[in-house]
Amino acid sequence: MKPSFSKSNLLSSAVLVLNANYSPMTVCTAKRAITLHFLDKIDVLSNYDDKINSPSIALELPSVIKIRTYIKNNNLSVEISRKNILARDGYKCQYCGKQSNALTVDHVVPKFKNGLDTWENLVAACKNCNQSKGDKTPEEARMPLLNKPKRPNRIHYFQRLVKKKQADWRPYLFMEPLN
Ligand SMILES: [Zn+2]
Repeated sequence: MKPSFSKSNLLSSAVLVLNANYSPMTVCTAKRAITLHFLDKIDVLSNYDDKINSPSIALELPSVIKIRTYIKNNNLSVEISRKNILARDGYKCQYCGKQSNALTVDHVVPKFKNGLDTWENLVAACKNCNQSKGDKTPEEARMPLLNKPKRPNRIHYFQRLVKKKQADWRPYLFMEPLN
């Protein structure tokens, strides 16, 4: 008899990690969460419906955990990188709206005009748009941005990971009130 999911798949399920004061901190794998649970470092607030069956025990698969020791300086900012900029922009060119796997990152205000490497000045752009914009600002190139680029915060990123199975995450990510 073959289970529908292999054990290793289940162990890599995403687990929402909350700080001791319930503020969302990060996402880890179920494997890591189970280890922390055995080390008595966390409380499990919610489990997935799936169980991990090993010959000796049936383990519940954690979905939301809370660490016991409060971590100060929990910085909710997202690291600025090509990958994270494309993800923020939904893998869509911010000039023509085309979705593509071959996007570039464009400086809204060009570098040589002292445009900075900031969330507010970097957007996803397709190669065509990047080329036709060249070394101009959007105004000069008459290529208005579809969205004003903003600094994301990690809560937004976690919210995007919430699928049907992660319904239990929603109250902790301010997507619905806690009951
Ligand atoms: Zn484009």
